[in-house]
Amino acid sequence: MDQLQGFGLNIIFLLGVLVFVGFCFMLLIAFWTGVKIMLLRRRQKQSDMETRRRKFHLDGRPIPPSAPGICHKCGSVFPQVHHLSDGRRLCVTCYQSAIEP
Ligand SMILES: [Zn+2]
Repeated sequence: MDQLQGFGLNIIFLLGVLVFVGFCFMLLIAFWTGVKIMLLRRRQKQSDMETRRRKFHLDGRPIPPSAPGICHKCGSVFPQVHHLSDGRRLCVTCYQSAIEP
């Protein structure tokens, strides 16, 4: 084998290695993107469940909106007071005792 033929084989071998490395790199990027999409979907699902848990009771009834204020029943100031549809404002504790029979 003369030097020119060896050089040609080396070039072909190097190009093959380059194409293989490029293919592996693309595969790695596709895999990483898939993992990121999976993690994003999982976080979205958890966020949706958290939002639903904050807005609805376990039996599906909606929890009234809340804001900082004074509870009508115990008279204290709370960072979260539920504004009921009948006009009352109850803290979380008083609201829990009011809805439970
Ligand atoms: Zn209260």
